[in-house]
Amino acid sequence: ARADAAARTTGPGATKDGHPVPLLANIGGPKDLPAALENGAEGVGLYRTEFLFLDRADAPGHEEQVAAYRAVLEAFPGRKVVVRTLDSGADKPLAFLPPPGEEPNPALGERGLRMMRRFPEVQDAQLAALAQAERDTDADLHVMAPMVTDPEDADYFAAAAADAGIRTAGIMIEVPAAALRARHLAESAAFFSIGTNDLTQYACAADREVGGLGRFQDPWQPGVLDLVAATADASGAAGRSCGVCGEAAADPVMACVLVGLGIDTLSMGATALPMVRAALARVTRAQCQAAAAAARAARGPSDAVAAARGALPGLA
Ligand code: PEP
Ligand code: MG
Repeated sequence: ARADAAARTTGPGATKDGHPVPLLANIGGPKDLPAALENGAEGVGLYRTEFLFLDRADAPGHEEQVAAYRAVLEAFPGRKVVVRTLDSGADKPLAFLPPPGEEPNPALGERGLRMMRRFPEVQDAQLAALAQAERDTDADLHVMAPMVTDPEDADYFAAAAADAGIRTAGIMIEVPAAALRARHLAESAAFFSIGTNDLTQYACAADREVGGLGRFQDPWQPGVLDLVAATADASGAAGRSCGVCGEAAADPVMACVLVGLGIDTLSMGATALPMVRAALARVTRAQCQAAAAAARAARGPSDAVAAARGALPGLA
C-alpha cells in the first residue's frame, strides 16, 4: 500500500489526499484508441474531428461519420467522451471550407465555430451524426465547439446542438474574451474545456505557427494562468465542470497548478497520462493550490515554474 501513492501509474487520477482528477485522452480518431486505453485514459477529453475531414473534396457522409464516432464511444462504455466539432481554418485548413476571402492573419480570421456559422449545413450534419452515435451506444457523449468568443456564439451552438438531439453541449475556452466572460457563457454552455494552445496564442499575441516567439508561446506566462483561473472560478460558481485539453495539461508540474486553480479534468496525448497520474499522486490538493497561487504571483514564466516547483516538494 505504500508503493501506491509513491508512483501510481495506473488507475483513476487523484491527488495524494484523494481529490479525484479524471485523466482523459486527446485523440484524432479511432486509430488513437489503443494508446488511450493502454495508458489508462478514463475517457476522451478531446476528439479532434478534423482528421476525418482532411484530404478530401467534400465532408464525409453521415454513415462514415457515425461509424467513426461510434467506434470512439464504444471504446469507453459509460465514460465521458468529449467530441469537438470541426475546427477548420488558420492552422487547420480544409479544402472544402475556404476562407471567405484573403485573410492576412488567419489565426484572427474565420476558424472554428466562426467557419461553421458560414457553413451551417456542415455543422448540422456533424451534430446529427454525433447524436446518432450517442443513441447507438451508452457512452457519456459531450460535444463542444471550438473558438467560441462571446455569449452570442455560445447561445448559437447550444441551440444547434439541442436541435440535433445532443444532450450535453459545451464550449472550448481559447479566446481571452471568453475566459474573462465565462460566467455569461455558462448560461448556455453545459461545460467548459480550456484550449491552452490557442488561449496562450491569443493572450500573448504570438502566432502558434511562427517559430522564434517561444517566450510568448508559453502557458506559464502568468497572464495565461490568470485567464485559466478566471474561467475555473466562473465555472465553479456556475456549477459547471471545467477541463483543460491543451498541451499544458501534459506537463506534470503545470497539471498540479491547473488542479490548484480549480480545473476538474485534464486531457492530454495518451503517452503523457502515466507521468501526470504519478505526479498528482505525489501531491495534495492544498499543495496544488499553493503552487497555483505562487505561480500566479510570479512576474514571468520561468519564475512561475520555479515557484510552483517550490510549493510541490513531493515532485522533486
Ligand atoms: C488548444 O487550442 O489548446 C486545443 C486543445 O486545440 P487545438 O490545439 O486543436 O487548436
Ligand atoms: Mg484550439
